[in-house]
Amino acid sequence: MSSTRVLVLNSGSSSVKYQLIDMRGGERLAVGLVERIGERTSRLIHTHVAAGDTREQNGPIADHEAALKAVAAELGRDGLGLDSPELAAIGHRVVHGGEFFSEPTLIDQTVLTEIERLIPVAPLHNPANLTGIRTAQALRPDLPQVAVFDTAFHTTMPESAARYAIDPKIADRYRIRRYGFHGTSHAYVSRETARLLGRAPEDVNVIVLHLGNGASASAVRGGRCVDTSMGLTPLEGLVMGTRSGDMDPAVIFHLMRVGGMSADEIDTLLNKRSGLFGLCGDNDMREIRRRVDEGDEQAGLAFDIYIHRLKKYIGAYYAVLGRVDAVAFTAGVGENAAPVREAAVAGLEGLGLAVDGELNAVRGDEARLISPADARVAVAVVPTDEEMEIATQSYALVNEPGNQNLT
Ligand code: AMP
Repeated sequence: MSSTRVLVLNSGSSSVKYQLIDMRGGERLAVGLVERIGERTSRLIHTHVAAGDTREQNGPIADHEAALKAVAAELGRDGLGLDSPELAAIGHRVVHGGEFFSEPTLIDQTVLTEIERLIPVAPLHNPANLTGIRTAQALRPDLPQVAVFDTAFHTTMPESAARYAIDPKIADRYRIRRYGFHGTSHAYVSRETARLLGRAPEDVNVIVLHLGNGASASAVRGGRCVDTSMGLTPLEGLVMGTRSGDMDPAVIFHLMRVGGMSADEIDTLLNKRSGLFGLCGDNDMREIRRRVDEGDEQAGLAFDIYIHRLKKYIGAYYAVLGRVDAVAFTAGVGENAAPVREAAVAGLEGLGLAVDGELNAVRGDEARLISPADARVAVAVVPTDEEMEIATQSYALVNEPGNQNLT
């Protein structure tokens, strides 16, 4: 029996998201989520897609091992268990791959050690990703496990974009450089945008705006990333749900010296209590738009700051690319919030950018153009699909000549 299925695991600090995908037609067989791992109120929601059957388990799930075992049991109930010979690989989302991992990578002890060595630059994410990998290995030691890194797509950035303007010796000693994140999404969306335009990825330059709760922009020239807005960590760049994005670094010294705050307190402030939430008390764009429509000034200012930053990045990446064929909006805000798309592009007609009001108002799950037919630059909404991208990359890797005997 041929092995054509890939289980995609996205292990967060207290959650595991998963999808089982059959790569023959890209069909999702099962999707689910375990959340609040380690608490008394853990929850597993599992959907067996073909049967249209969604099951929910509530009650304590102590750790990632217990969570994955519970997921394996749910898959088993649907005849999709981890012991199935049809399973070709498990693909893991790994947030930080540093400067080493530019490709999806078969996981062995050396790879695990390197992901571990990157914990100081990804203290929240890499430990959880590692736990997910180790648990999955324990459940199916014979199965190829693939790491797909959020940073990989950005390793093509030139040094001029990847380096900060600080002493290179210090930068190298502490591995300080701009890594970028959301790479799986930027890779997928830039390719899908080319497809929407009916052109090869090598022939198009795209600005991708991944606007979710976390948000990042990237400049993609001919399918390769040449700049992105997140840096050493996901804090840099756009205004996000709860992160400040770009700021004068001296704000931090000021908060330490004058405000008496500790490094940890400032870390929490900038990552968890800033951005849209810090500005107006809400980080959900739906709620912010509702408040803006009611004339709420605080929400209005938060929206304006968000849009101003977004526009600056569109302009900056236009200059980085020189020629832009498309601007693609993706993720929760980018795919759903028509007012954000309209405001981000407003006034940029001189750059050939415009949004057609009627097309922008259309809702849907399909990639679509929202610019007027005669626009110089295409503006598109391209739903992201990080799980499919992880599955596709994992499956391609285990089927490469030389790796085929692994499955
Ligand atoms: P993500 O991180 O990609 O899942 O995006 C989550 C964010 O998308 C939420 O925090 C909301 O701000 C935003 N969002 C989701 N649905 C909508 C919608 N219908 N309209 C506006 N914003 C939305």
